[in-house]
Amino acid sequence: MRKTALIVTLLVLTLLALPVWAQRREIRIPDIYGYTTLKCDFHMHTVFSDGLVWPTVRVDEAWREGLDAISITDHIEYQPHKADVPTNHNRPYEIAAGKAAGLGLLLIRGTEITRNTPPGHFNAIFLNDINPLDTKDFFDVLEAAKAQKAFVFWNHPGWKAKPGEKYIADINEQIREKGLIQGVEVVNGRSHYADAHTWALNHNFTLMGNSDIHSPADNDQMQPENHRTMTLVFAREKTVEAIKEALLKGRTAVYFGNTIIGKGDFLEGIFEASIHVQKPYVQSKNAVSVLVTNESDIDFELRRTGKVGPSTITFPAGQSTFVKIPIDKDGKAELAYTVTNLCTAPGKGLSLSTTFYAD
Ligand SMILES: [Zn+2]
Ligand SMILES: [Zn+2]
Repeated sequence: MRKTALIVTLLVLTLLALPVWAQRREIRIPDIYGYTTLKCDFHMHTVFSDGLVWPTVRVDEAWREGLDAISITDHIEYQPHKADVPTNHNRPYEIAAGKAAGLGLLLIRGTEITRNTPPGHFNAIFLNDINPLDTKDFFDVLEAAKAQKAFVFWNHPGWKAKPGEKYIADINEQIREKGLIQGVEVVNGRSHYADAHTWALNHNFTLMGNSDIHSPADNDQMQPENHRTMTLVFAREKTVEAIKEALLKGRTAVYFGNTIIGKGDFLEGIFEASIHVQKPYVQSKNAVSVLVTNESDIDFELRRTGKVGPSTITFPAGQSTFVKIPIDKDGKAELAYTVTNLCTAPGKGLSLSTTFYAD
């Protein structure tokens, strides 16, 4: 009896020691126009500033959630754990780099420039060395980032503003005029900054959306409906250099909740690469039913803007839906819809129109 217990104990211990292969969720958002759609999060914290995890944990979390690239962006000027974790701005990147390389996750060296509002907080990424940015004068910091050819974006622009309050200050306009930023974080976590979004569109800034995660990632984030906010980057290939090129050219979209924000052509590309209309159609005299398959993780919500077709249509993620389309005597229909959760501007959905032919 004792011997059996010993064998069982040994067996359990052996099994516990075996490697357990980690699982990764794949985010289903298609590649478009010959670009690979990389899922990226360029804003997160560790114990090296006010985050609550070690840098390698950020790598594990991001990999499990299906991300392709991250930047750990600890605050330069705010380190509440300084007594336990000494100031060393480059350490989060150095500690996480090996783990990221092992998992094939791209890691970009970055930091968060943290000043009172205004001007607020800014992430500088693609840095070689963060230390030169640890300097007193705010404009010197941005110049130090520029000297390293960093990509700089304005974080959570309206986080301290009351509803309706103007938050794009003179100093933010000055930063823009001097060409010291290239992007705007129009979504941070679950907050969308509509005025900053419009400002970013008017001045052709790259649209960014990130988690700004401080706590350990919730296991729920593995579910498509609870995914973290991320920047979709339409890159030539999966490399750090290609991500930088795409960011500088503005080839991004922001994926948060069940919404994607971006320029119309990118959103149209995502919709068209996600949706497949299958033949044969089921036809009666005045209408045709078509089976529409949505291979993406997004539930597309459509509202009719034309004269024919259902007034609203939902194409649920990963499912097929029959849609009944009324046809004219020539067997065609002029369809016009807005995809309300693909946003080209605050409150503005993507307009689509097409002539549908029954055969
Ligand atoms: Zn911040
Ligand atoms: Zn932050």
